[in-house]
Amino acid sequence: MENPIGNNVESLRAFFIENVSKFCDKCGTAYKSDNIDVVTESNASVIIQAQCDNCKGIYMAHVIKPLQMTKKIPIKLDISSAMLHPYYVLGPISSDELLALRKKLVRVKTLEDFMEIADKTKKKKPSKKNDS
Ligand SMILES: [Zn+2]
Repeated sequence: MENPIGNNVESLRAFFIENVSKFCDKCGTAYKSDNIDVVTESNASVIIQAQCDNCKGIYMAHVIKPLQMTKKIPIKLDISSAMLHPYYVLGPISSDELLALRKKLVRVKTLEDFMEIADKTKKKKPSKKNDS
């Protein structure tokens, strides 16, 4: 295989433990394979998230594939990598999108108003969100 890291989740987990971090920076607990998840992966890079079993501290690492350069950063999150993934897929939010949403939100007076906006937004941008 050409890719030095490999494409499957197990090899990325092993890569994280071997090359990025073996232990939680906060409490020193050793990471286990199932503490580590892939948030998103492209041809050029991978974003890996690790959550400590003991203190629940979350770290993310951005791994550039060809050079294997990595950086581990602590982040406060209360959502899992599976829930985070759809937002990465959507890509960066533009300032136009934010301003358009703000314009709509200032007109919201009732829950019904809000739900109407939410419905319209959903129809415009079909995402793979859960139906619940
Ligand atoms: Zn910890």
